[in-house]
Amino acid sequence: MKLVLATSNPGKLRELRALLAPRNIEVLPQSNFGLVSAEETGTTFVENALLKARHAARATALPAIADDSGLEVDALDGRPGVHSARYAGPEATDGQNNTRLLEELRGVSQELRTARYRCVLAMVRSGDDPAPLICEGVWEGRIGHSPQGEAGFGYDPLFVLDDSPGTAAQLAPEEKNRISHRGQALQLLLARLP
Ligand code: IMP
Repeated sequence: MKLVLATSNPGKLRELRALLAPRNIEVLPQSNFGLVSAEETGTTFVENALLKARHAARATALPAIADDSGLEVDALDGRPGVHSARYAGPEATDGQNNTRLLEELRGVSQELRTARYRCVLAMVRSGDDPAPLICEGVWEGRIGHSPQGEAGFGYDPLFVLDDSPGTAAQLAPEEKNRISHRGQALQLLLARLP
């Protein structure tokens, strides 16, 4: 079976290809079809994942899969949430987003810096599939006081893990993929594929 992946992120493509190859599923990036991602106009991760998957399935007439993810900080009432990529502005770099996060949390104590990464994966068999497959992974942690570690991306240098010492940016990539919000969502999806 062929499946379109609605992302332009090569890391996500690599990860999903490796996981789905043993199931005889060939994952094709949407760029193979000259497609760019649908605009993320939803207010929830589910809406955004679904609209990206539907857009890719409609344009290619193939089943499609998309993910949407972000960081939720309790002391900020769940922000940056679906706006994680653009927290410090439309073209913000990871460094600028991290600086803004530290500024907003200035003076907030260790106990109140709880946060989580959330990832929603949506798979549709066609553009108007009435029963999409939706899987969600959550990774709990805390926002540190200064960046630590060089690996990963986004907020990883500030994301202090609950279950092991250090930040997400101090994990080996394979380890992060195994335990992360995205890794968990992918495992759930695999378990639910026919
Ligand atoms: P998207 O799901 O590719 O749109 O990513 C949304 C944004 O959430 C990213 O640009 C990051 O800012 C943040 N994010 C999502 N997953 C991770 C992660 O595993 N590490 C660090 N930041 C993440």
